[in-house]
Amino acid sequence: MSDPFSPELGRLIAGYRRFRENGWSSNRERWSSLSEGQQPQVMVIACSDSRVDPSQIFDVDPGEIFVVRNVAAMVPPFETTPGYHGVSAALEFAVQFLKVKEIVVMGHGMCGGCRAALTQEMRGFEPGQGGFVADWIALLDDAREQVASTHGTHGRPAERAMEQAGVKVSLNNLRTFPCIRSKERSGELKLTGAFFAISDGVLHMLDEGDGHFRPVA
Ligand SMILES: [Zn+2]
Repeated sequence: MSDPFSPELGRLIAGYRRFRENGWSSNRERWSSLSEGQQPQVMVIACSDSRVDPSQIFDVDPGEIFVVRNVAAMVPPFETTPGYHGVSAALEFAVQFLKVKEIVVMGHGMCGGCRAALTQEMRGFEPGQGGFVADWIALLDDAREQVASTHGTHGRPAERAMEQAGVKVSLNNLRTFPCIRSKERSGELKLTGAFFAISDGVLHMLDEGDGHFRPVA
């Protein structure tokens, strides 16, 4: 009898079977220690884009990084308005309960969310038709003004500037969370900006001193 999966899901199930065969059994000890709890030291905030999987880029094992992925790797500002604050909940858990020592915000090249922020192509769309994306990336509006006035709104230089500015917006918003701000001050927590250039697969790190992203040697 053939599997009842769609071809798309079937590919994933085949991967799961390889994982059970190779990855799971050879690391059984590691999995069993993780079954009692996780102690990741680093939180990564990345884009949902299928090309930028933090575990793959940083080549880490299960249990090592606590990850939030969303459109354009955004962190909203600290807000206590009614609503479902998913990123804030993950941050709170990572910082206050897991006590991660480092938060990395990783933007990336060819980011559709950042491009939409730049072009405003989804502005005014209905929720479910692009409106949720438009609302979410309005987090980039202020940064967008600066990028657009320097680079315009189309082409790679403008897009890359928007992608890198987005990392800085998320870092600034992280610092609006009182628990993050105080732990950064006391040295318990470090915040770092990163950028993965899809074109050449090179990771860049942000120097907050001069605002430049430089390739990791
Ligand atoms: Zn993206």
